[in-house]
Amino acid sequence: MSIHLLRLAFISLFFAIGQGALGDEITGKPGYAPKVPKNSVPSLHHGLRNVSRLQKFSVALQTLGIPPEAKPDFAELPSHTALTQTDFETQLSYIDPHLGLRRYFDITSTAVSTFQNFFSLSGGILPEYRFNFSRHSAPSDSEGLINHLNQISGQVKSNIAEPLQGLKIVLDPGHMGTDFWDEATGKYVKLEDKKVSEGDLNLWTAYLVANELEDLGAMVTITRTEAGPVTKSNLQNFNATPFINQYFYDSLDNWMEKYLALDEAEIKETIKEKPEVKKAYTSDQQEQFFIEGEDLEAREKIIEALQPDITLDIHYDAEDSTKLQDSNDAMETFVPGGLLETESGSRLMRAYAMNQLLSVRRFNESVNLASELVHAMSLSEGVSLESVNGYYNAEMIKGKDGVYARNLYISARNITSLMIYVECLHYDHVKEFNQLTELTESGIYRGIHFQYPKRINAVAQGVKNGLLNYFKR
Ligand SMILES: [Zn+2]
Repeated sequence: MSIHLLRLAFISLFFAIGQGALGDEITGKPGYAPKVPKNSVPSLHHGLRNVSRLQKFSVALQTLGIPPEAKPDFAELPSHTALTQTDFETQLSYIDPHLGLRRYFDITSTAVSTFQNFFSLSGGILPEYRFNFSRHSAPSDSEGLINHLNQISGQVKSNIAEPLQGLKIVLDPGHMGTDFWDEATGKYVKLEDKKVSEGDLNLWTAYLVANELEDLGAMVTITRTEAGPVTKSNLQNFNATPFINQYFYDSLDNWMEKYLALDEAEIKETIKEKPEVKKAYTSDQQEQFFIEGEDLEAREKIIEALQPDITLDIHYDAEDSTKLQDSNDAMETFVPGGLLETESGSRLMRAYAMNQLLSVRRFNESVNLASELVHAMSLSEGVSLESVNGYYNAEMIKGKDGVYARNLYISARNITSLMIYVECLHYDHVKEFNQLTELTESGIYRGIHFQYPKRINAVAQGVKNGLLNYFKR
């Protein structure tokens, strides 16, 4: 063996030992089996892979009086992170499993460039954004977050009195509760005189989890500490314009696509009469913009301002608000990603997705934490894990039962924490419904007294155990 080879062997050995010592740290490495990346550019079944597609879209928007979508702030993306082409493509398989977003990309061995239209070699259009790949380096995003999680992990492993000291968590109890908002969202089950509101379950769960985690030293913020909306605006006076605009920007790869087959004159003449266009201005849709736009944005702003380490969105599952079922009591969690083919149309959504694509270590840790949570909750609740790929149109993470990637409003945004959306159990399951209507327990969260069903204790215990297990790994 030459001196050179010997030295190389020594360096490799040193490196291997170094890796071993780091083995029990939070590294941002995937705990799951990466999918084989799909390298091929998706088929041209959309036909309009050319400039006229965007030209016609802008004619449609102009006719409707919708301003063109502004260029997103790509400066917010983590551009200084190291990422190889292979790591990027692996991440792409979970962020964009249906290859809708991929149509806007040109991926080479040196860079990914993103375009405002489907990428075409003959396009000759400048990219909106370009990210240069590194040749060999492992992903290096989210340095501060990973270091901080490691510090907490050290505290948990050394069994100090308040092991989660310094950990910042936001709990976001989904929906709003109250009869009015339950009717508007359909997030309840009512049978004769018994009713379970998901908004209530989510809130009580957040109270209990907050108490548990604060006892362990964590700094916990709940986005909604009472029934009702989080936003200070109300349904009558909120500004719906940004949500109407976004509704149309998002339509490009969705319902608008079929109208772009018309010629420009026909578009001008008929677009205002299309059902999807009329729908945007109905009072039902205004209510949806308030619930799924205005109110979720208010939650997002709280999360952005706090810059937590972990964001946990709390939800419960049900399929029908008027009847019970006995076939599905499984539970699952969602991490960011999983864009549908219809969800890549707006520049904003593509910029958000790019942020997820470049945040590989953060994504992997969200998956690792989601997996620990869902297992501990499943054990504590005695409920099985969902295992059907495509459940809620979500992409199952290989080798991580009960963990799915799905593009949901809050998880899609530029949130810099680990992001997990948990569906605690099915409240429309016959086994659960009756238990959940018995409010036998009393609790206090920061001076707020509340009555709640005993069943939720098992959920809160599961969340606490899962979190501690994550830091103990
Ligand atoms: Zn929900």
